[in-house]
Amino acid sequence: MKDKKVYVLMEDDTEIFGNGTGHIMYRMYLPVVRYVELLRTYNVKSTFYVDMAHWLFLRDNPKFGDFALQAELIEKTIVHLLDNEMEVQLHLHSQWANAYLENDVVKVTQKWNIGQLAPEDQKKMFLEGSKRLQEIIATSKNQNLFNSFKAGSWGIQPFSVLYDDFKDNGVKLVLGPTKGLKLPALDLDYSDMESEITPYYCSKEDINRIGNKKEIAIIPMTPTYLNWFDLARYILHVKFRGFMERFDKDMDVYGVPDAIIRMNPVANRDSIHSFKMPYKTNLKMNKQPFWYLRKTFKRAYELVLANDFDYKLIVLETHTKDFKNVFGDIDRFLEYLTKNYKNIEFVTTSDVVRHIEEGKLVPLTKK
Ligand SMILES: [Zn+2]
Repeated sequence: MKDKKVYVLMEDDTEIFGNGTGHIMYRMYLPVVRYVELLRTYNVKSTFYVDMAHWLFLRDNPKFGDFALQAELIEKTIVHLLDNEMEVQLHLHSQWANAYLENDVVKVTQKWNIGQLAPEDQKKMFLEGSKRLQEIIATSKNQNLFNSFKAGSWGIQPFSVLYDDFKDNGVKLVLGPTKGLKLPALDLDYSDMESEITPYYCSKEDINRIGNKKEIAIIPMTPTYLNWFDLARYILHVKFRGFMERFDKDMDVYGVPDAIIRMNPVANRDSIHSFKMPYKTNLKMNKQPFWYLRKTFKRAYELVLANDFDYKLIVLETHTKDFKNVFGDIDRFLEYLTKNYKNIEFVTTSDVVRHIEEGKLVPLTKK
């Protein structure tokens, strides 16, 4: 069992903050450039899900501030990723649909789960976002096929509205659903997911259910957890960081009202005030210290190895927007992973799609 091959799909949400704050230069382009250098140092591949809903909003408001430049920077980020042999796929944050400008402030909506939008808005955002993404991909020398979607705020429920559009446009893998995740403000409930770790073809009517058509596979986010000791250590770490970061303001959020900076309907997703034991979450790399990354990876790895399914796959979710002060920890973590786990292989979504086509990975299905 120890030498069993374990695939690691690193997938980045490439975006600014959910409440609409943050600048593409500081939260997307620059951290991506630095992160890609590190990935290349360790010969690691990642898939980047770029928020094209934000791009659509910038495109529709080109006269405001430097929005035209920021839209262009998203495109430059995509081409930079491809030129450096990373993969690019589609991410959409639905709060950008019907977002508006008021007194020079960006106001996004409270609908952070794309399933909460009117059907025509869901379709429009998906079709326009995926079309533009593919046009940009086509301008790079190194291209990948569009085949995957990562839901903004993990929210794509109900899925029935977009299911056929996804299928018709070549989406084969969907990421976001996370067993046990329930966010009432987003009308989102993944408590009943029929598979926690193993990829499965979903039913069109209910994304939580394993379906009988081999069309769209859900790749569940990989669970991990902290024990009491780690949680206490992590709370201290977060408190200390919070103190340090009080003085670490972004250049572009001066003058943004506090109500907007605090707006975050997904906050209780990982609230350390409402914890249960063991403290369960999905495997991720945002701005956690090295020890957290090392321990949570080990636990996710053990859960996946113990899972009774032949194809071993770990999804490691990353958020480059949060990386600016933690590149040292990321460097150590990548070094640690590549040195200590000889049986892991980093894959992109196109590799996973190929594994499905070759029959190496057979997502669960119902008769
Ligand atoms: Zn996101």
